[in-house]
Amino acid sequence: MSTNEKQQNSTISGFEPYVQTKGEEYMGEPMRKHFTKILQKWKQDLMQEVDRTVDHMKDEAANFPDPADRASQEEEFSLELRARDRERKLIKKIDKTLQLIEDEEYGWCESCGIEIGVRRLEARPTADMCVDCKTLAEIKEKQVGK
Ligand SMILES: [Zn+2]
Repeated sequence: MSTNEKQQNSTISGFEPYVQTKGEEYMGEPMRKHFTKILQKWKQDLMQEVDRTVDHMKDEAANFPDPADRASQEEEFSLELRARDRERKLIKKIDKTLQLIEDEEYGWCESCGIEIGVRRLEARPTADMCVDCKTLAEIKEKQVGK
């Protein structure tokens, strides 16, 4: 499986884009429910992926009595484990985001306080900054790295 395919597995699938009614309150109850649903589905997908790998590793480990086969197998496992580690971190972030929704603090930029916006949040439901602040933060991060 290519890296690209793996990344696609970690993205969110299968939801209808939110249709805002005229004058609808930003992050009112229907909107909060919409994002709760997206995040829960995403989390579920990720957890299934983690379970699937663990099962697969248990099965395959038993099938390679030859040490050479085992070595390449172990290399593959360690790559998979790293991917799983990223997924676990993502799951934690999703949990944190679900808590924000519950506290009615979801959807506003952590840095400047403006609305992050429905479309941006649908593309990145765990986003906690608006596009401008995120861009600025990334530039700063790069400068620090130099
Ligand atoms: Zn901002």
